[in-house]
Amino acid sequence: MLKATDRKIYDLIKKEQKRQAESIRLIPSENYVSKSVLEATGSILTNKYSEGYSRKRYYEGQEYIDQIEEEAVARAKKLFRADHVNVQPYSGSPANLAVYFALLKPSEKIMGMSLPHGGHLTHGWKVSATAKFFNAVQYAVDKKTNLLDYDEILEIAKREKPQIIVAGATAYPRKIDFKKFKEIADEVGAYFLADIAHISGLVAAGLHQSPVPYADVVTTTTHKSLRGPRGAMIMCKEKHAKLIDKAVFPGLQGGPHDNTTAAIAVALKEADTSKFKNYAKQIIKNAQALAKELLNYNFDLVTGGTDNHLILIDMTNKNLSGKQMSSALIKAGIECNANTVPYDKRSPFDPSGIRIGTPAITTLGMKEKEMKQIAFWMNEVSENVNNERVLKRIKNEVKKLCGKYEMPGLK
Ligand SMILES: *Cc1c(COP(=O)(O)O)cnc(C)c1O
Repeated sequence: MLKATDRKIYDLIKKEQKRQAESIRLIPSENYVSKSVLEATGSILTNKYSEGYSRKRYYEGQEYIDQIEEEAVARAKKLFRADHVNVQPYSGSPANLAVYFALLKPSEKIMGMSLPHGGHLTHGWKVSATAKFFNAVQYAVDKKTNLLDYDEILEIAKREKPQIIVAGATAYPRKIDFKKFKEIADEVGAYFLADIAHISGLVAAGLHQSPVPYADVVTTTTHKSLRGPRGAMIMCKEKHAKLIDKAVFPGLQGGPHDNTTAAIAVALKEADTSKFKNYAKQIIKNAQALAKELLNYNFDLVTGGTDNHLILIDMTNKNLSGKQMSSALIKAGIECNANTVPYDKRSPFDPSGIRIGTPAITTLGMKEKEMKQIAFWMNEVSENVNNERVLKRIKNEVKKLCGKYEMPGLK
């Protein structure tokens, strides 16, 4: 249909589909959703308006929408053992904003991990609304180990007395001790927000510590390792439920995206299976296998390896910038992003590192053997960043490997 009515957009979608099918997608926040998730996302639910919450809507005709949202909430509660869940945030950033809006007054203090050390924009980074409308103070990782230093975090918290402490990251390859964060927050009388956007699939599978028992509020995107549609959820203790719900609607948003809500429900059902647990296990196995191979090629991995789905590589010892490496990799059909490394001496626009991850390639079905091959190619690329002929040859080899896997979502 689209093909007939809008050839231009149709062709661009098809081209992007081919690109996704033929490249090794190592961006750790990306994935391939199932056909079922895609079907719910693209359904007629996109036609509906349903401001409010189940049984308390501002528009008529909600008998099915209410059931869909209730089902999504019930599945999230079960999977994450949460008291209360809001599935309406449009994405991870608005979800975090809603939490601050719910629990803080303007100009009260947020304490989060700084962006160049692995935190997210919405954890109080200076250019973000979260630092403009609130006061923000940041913690970093330890200079030597590049690990979270809980003593230091406690010290900053005692000095700065934030109203909320945020744990969670977009570029931290190790486990996070949410219990310790809770103790720190308690010691200074702060709320504790855990943002598990990247790792929620690993948490759902029971492979990483769940912050749900400890945190006042837990936010997560639904589209990263959880493998659902673009969206987010806020989970919280019952005592915060009213404030959180009011902050999402009518505080920050209007009508929820009901098609997304349905797709979240579908993804949550998929995530509550032993098949997904095995998938999550393989994500970590693959990341660790890839890390091991990369170390063999003398790549400088931040913290020396990974406990989760992602690897941060400092390219300095290869005499390359992150951007040089990421743009050479994409020419070879391998997709990642340039990323700052802790205490980066280069600028955020041209940082020293690259960030890679295994959720998407693990969904395809790749295993340890393929990690070996990917590390081999990455090493070749690093030695040939300006050799278009070599990069092209690798791209063809990559395409051939990807051809062995069926891209999910199509059938
Ligand atoms: C991805 C991410 C977000 C934001 O998600 P968007 O959907 O891109 O707005 C928030 N926090 C963390 C830790 C993330 O990794």
